[in-house]
Amino acid sequence: MMRTLAFVAGFPVAVYGGSGAVSYPYVDDTWGGVCKTGTAQSPIALPQCTAGNSKRAELAASYGSHDAELSHTGHAVKISLKTPTDAIKFVSPTGTYKLVQCHWHDDSEHTIDGKKYPLCAHCVHEKIGDSSRYGVLGVVYEVDSTVEDPFLKSIVDNLPVKTDTTTKIDKAGVNFTNYLAGMTNLSNYYTYAGSLTTPPCTEAVDWHVLSHPVKLTQAQLDKMVAALGHSATGTFRPPQPLNGRVVLGCAAVTTGTTANNSTNSSSTASNTSSNANSNTTSSNTSSGNNTTTAAQASNAVAAAPAVAAVVALLVPALF
Ligand SMILES: [Zn+2]
Repeated sequence: MMRTLAFVAGFPVAVYGGSGAVSYPYVDDTWGGVCKTGTAQSPIALPQCTAGNSKRAELAASYGSHDAELSHTGHAVKISLKTPTDAIKFVSPTGTYKLVQCHWHDDSEHTIDGKKYPLCAHCVHEKIGDSSRYGVLGVVYEVDSTVEDPFLKSIVDNLPVKTDTTTKIDKAGVNFTNYLAGMTNLSNYYTYAGSLTTPPCTEAVDWHVLSHPVKLTQAQLDKMVAALGHSATGTFRPPQPLNGRVVLGCAAVTTGTTANNSTNSSSTASNTSSNANSNTTSSNTSSGNNTTTAAQASNAVAAAPAVAAVVALLVPALF
């Protein structure tokens, strides 16, 4: 039906969160180029953690209050820093990233433990020292009748509309630290290498998705969904094939690989789905003190030769 768009979608001027040939609801193969041929696409279905979420190096952000502008790309509400700098950043095990913009999707794009949430946010960053890569700090939201999200509170009564993609609403002194305020735990998160979730779907994103949802009120959700303007279909791309990529964030299942495994004969170990620890043995040299690699190895959920070939960036003008 909308297949003519596929050819436009190959190399549009669209950038992360930009307009371009984005169409919803998402239909397989409608978006062309890397969206169609890539092997490290996003979003993905984030895994069910059979042994619980792992406690990881806490994400640290230095955001603060800054002048910003709100706009609508036609498919996303976006708030962009007027002047991104290296000082406005977050730090994770994979690097340091400077904040550029945050935007929202109606329905979550990533699913967590098979669950889809009614809204998600992606704060997009450029990797410091490697401008060809991005870091996204994403959250999903769930409704709580008593908890307002403080970041949304500062913008949700003044949102742009879908039909106007040119207006920029000035917002002075937006407190981006409030984006983190609703996050109850910055030590539980998933990471993996993926892509932009809109054309051109460039495979150059270090994804960080918080394991625990952020709470917002029904009224806040309703306002954002109304502003996004696609309430009948949503503005999300569904999970894409993992293709052997490694997702970190689950605690390792410890049954079965070492000599003294008989100690944990818990009755719940009946269905060890065997993919969680099948390939941690090679690098898991009994509590080596290289915390990064040991943690990565033990937290690997689906490991295999990750192909994440970093495609030459096709993103010309940022955001
Ligand atoms: Zn997004």
